[in-house]
Amino acid sequence: LVVLSGVQKHFGQLHALKDIELTVKRGEVVVVIGPSGSGKSTLCRTINRLETIDEGSITLDGKDLPQEGKALAALRAEVGMVFQSFNLFAHKTILENVTLGPIKVRGVAKAEAEKKARELLDRVGVGHQAEKYPAQLSGGQQQRVAIARALAMEPKVMLFDEPTSALDPEMIKEVLDVMVSLAEQGMTMVVVTHEMGFARTAAHRVVFMADGAIVEENTPEEFFTNPGSDRAKDFLGKIL
Ligand code: ATP
Ligand code: MG
Repeated sequence: LVVLSGVQKHFGQLHALKDIELTVKRGEVVVVIGPSGSGKSTLCRTINRLETIDEGSITLDGKDLPQEGKALAALRAEVGMVFQSFNLFAHKTILENVTLGPIKVRGVAKAEAEKKARELLDRVGVGHQAEKYPAQLSGGQQQRVAIARALAMEPKVMLFDEPTSALDPEMIKEVLDVMVSLAEQGMTMVVVTHEMGFARTAAHRVVFMADGAIVEENTPEEFFTNPGSDRAKDFLGKIL
């Protein structure tokens, strides 16, 4: 579904992504882990073109990713993204946050968008908060709204960049539970996370990055019990 081939990215002198080859199949859940600064966020951001790339190609469903213009807006609608910070629109209600994209970008009628939004908000467990404003919700609730908002666009793939790392411990599970159930429903997901429990239970594949390169990729069982590279062993030694 998503294919990155020979992707190179520089920030000035810094070689942030080094010859990245990555294929994410439909329905697959890929967890990306690695030390701080290894390029995990940059990788996610290139997939929905928040970052341009210097070389290589990225395709979604066989189509090259456009760099700009209308085609880019259409592409963004197909790639849902959830960040560490929830970035909901503060002056819009929860319901409005979720219906805005479908109405503005997809041209969905308001009543239909609201019906769908309420279903999604129910699904992530915040249906009763629809008329509130983001500041009235806990971090975990806001992050679940952010997931519902991304899902409202009916994306082909969901990208998560450390979606739980800004949350208090007791709220992490409620967000991870939503992600696990999405994975079980067959959503294609690329997830940057330090939550190894999630990686073990939900990931089909773990991709380990260091210094801008993919050093190793494997099933979670293999990766955690028998990491192939010294970098991965060293990293796991520090976090587990
Ligand atoms: P973390 O675990 O801390 O989130 P990461 O693996 O997500 O790290 P990235 O944010 O992708 O790492 O950053 C990779 C490298 O690229 C880092 O050295 C970072 O400083 C650099 N970098 C990222 N974005 C930019 C930018 N817009 N301009 C310049 N350098 C950047
Ligand atoms: Mg990051």
